Amino acid sequence: MKQRDYYEVLGVARGAGDQEIKSAYRKLALQHHPDRNPGDHAAEEKFKEAAEAYAVLADPDKRVRYDQFGHAGVAGATSGPQGFNPDVFGDFSDILGDFFGFGGGQRRGGPSRGSDLRFDLEITFEESFTGVEKTIQIPREEHCETCKGTGAAVGTTREKCPQCRGSGQLRYQQGFLVVARTCGQCRGTGEVIRTPCATCRGTGLVTKERRVTVKIPAGIADSQRLRLHGEGEHGTGGGPTGDLYVVIHVRPHAVFQREGDDLYIETQVPFPIMAMGGSFMVDGPAGELEVEVSAGTASGSLIPFRGKGMQSVSGRGKGTLFVRVVVQVPRKISKDQRKLIEQLGQTMKAEKIAATPADDSGDRPFFEKVKDLFG
Ligand SMILES: [Zn+2]
Ligand SMILES: [Zn+2]
Repeated sequence: MKQRDYYEVLGVARGAGDQEIKSAYRKLALQHHPDRNPGDHAAEEKFKEAAEAYAVLADPDKRVRYDQFGHAGVAGATSGPQGFNPDVFGDFSDILGDFFGFGGGQRRGGPSRGSDLRFDLEITFEESFTGVEKTIQIPREEHCETCKGTGAAVGTTREKCPQCRGSGQLRYQQGFLVVARTCGQCRGTGEVIRTPCATCRGTGLVTKERRVTVKIPAGIADSQRLRLHGEGEHGTGGGPTGDLYVVIHVRPHAVFQREGDDLYIETQVPFPIMAMGGSFMVDGPAGELEVEVSAGTASGSLIPFRGKGMQSVSGRGKGTLFVRVVVQVPRKISKDQRKLIEQLGQTMKAEKIAATPADDSGDRPFFEKVKDLFG
């Protein structure tokens, strides 16, 4: 394979200064680092190529020789692409730390945060309207009480790892770089357990059922989730506890339909009330409401009750409850009613009926009504 020009690899000009070369390399190294691109061979090659180019251009002597003689001038100066084994790249901080201040702090196998947990909880529409408190039972990983979370049997302690002498890393020279890899024996913790705790088998964690009380606020909608800080799994090595996410599922209601913080219900109203006006009672989500219908109300009209809808989950204000009034057409009628309707029919006889303009036919466009009728 033909080797690319080192300046081209880093994307800098031949006369580029040290700082420019350094920042160009940093950008490439961060972008293509194997830790960020697991399993991506193209990225790995780019990373190696950039590291090789930087090794030469950052060194004044090598750079002069490279400028004069090209790749031949610096042959053997680096370990070359084949010499770079991705396994010895180690942690992100190990290679880049010395150059760019990533050093220190994090190491593999050190304190790790406990996992977040998810719990799916179904509630009724009424519970979402008023808010509710629920107690749930969740299995989670907690610190083992027998060994106090150390993982070592009672009377014993964790010992310093003999292979890495407690550092958690093995360092060695790789070409021009000092590379570090995570110690295999202690998996980076720097400690080993000679006699594991019998209760947790050395993990320091045991699974326990825990009861958690969840306060569900009024107005919560389907699929919304609540975060319970610190109710997830315990961390290891002194790491923080994860969080618990409770995902709310609101069972659909037979009568109430929700749209944002507004609610909709539909009522079938006898023709005389729609024609001459009147009132009737209806069950709202928080008790009875009196619906007043003015004379000549079109079928399908919406009558709003402001502040009778859902509580906003943020606690600010309430939505509107809309009562949709539809003319009721009775399926069964008495003899007397039949007579009266016949008389009414005589006064309202029609041979031909003109189509009604959409604007006059109620509150909704015609096509929506057709959809209601024929699906
Ligand atoms: Zn234990
Ligand atoms: Zn070790």
